[in-house]
Amino acid sequence: MKPIILLVEDDAVLRGGLKELFLREGYEVWEAASAREARQKQGENAALTVLDVGLPDGDGVSLCREWRSQGIRQPILFLTARDEEFDVVRALDSGGDDYVTKPFRMQELLSRIRVLLRPARQEGAAARGGYLTDTARMQILKDGAALPLTQTEYKIMALLLGSPGVIPRERLLEILWDDGGKFVDDNTLSVHMSRLRDKVGADAIKTVRGVGYQWCSTR
Ligand code: CA
Repeated sequence: MKPIILLVEDDAVLRGGLKELFLREGYEVWEAASAREARQKQGENAALTVLDVGLPDGDGVSLCREWRSQGIRQPILFLTARDEEFDVVRALDSGGDDYVTKPFRMQELLSRIRVLLRPARQEGAAARGGYLTDTARMQILKDGAALPLTQTEYKIMALLLGSPGVIPRERLLEILWDDGGKFVDDNTLSVHMSRLRDKVGADAIKTVRGVGYQWCSTR
């Protein structure tokens, strides 16, 4: 089955050109010329969304945020114009994975898309609030840069980022062991959590009393 790209772009000429390019590369293409159309077509079947930031009836960044809050997890790549107001931090915070600025080279766009669709990345990486899990290298990336984490902190972060809900404290204690190979006890877990919070911001990890921890992507 061919991977489907949901192509959201109101400029008909650019959309036509991109569609042709994507088809030639072996993708299937669903087109949308507005936020309204994009909402109708977005769903589990699209492998990736190419999302124009300036749409006639809304902006791509808000649309991305909306989809992420609905649990849409597929990669989203923004198209932005040089003269458009575009805040990279806000765009990645909204849950977007990457962006290219118009005018861009077609080959560059294609290579960004290939990276986002890499199987390892799809299986192992979850982008949440600009954070990304790179399971192959056992790293957490923040806006593309690796965080200086211990192995235990990496494991905790990967769990937090990979789960939309609260992670029970027992579950963490069950599967974590420290860098010396020992299981982590209750007190040690608290120490790890507090060190981790120093690195990613105290607000990013919510304590749910009597239950466990939850990642808050809206920092
Ligand atoms: Ca536009």
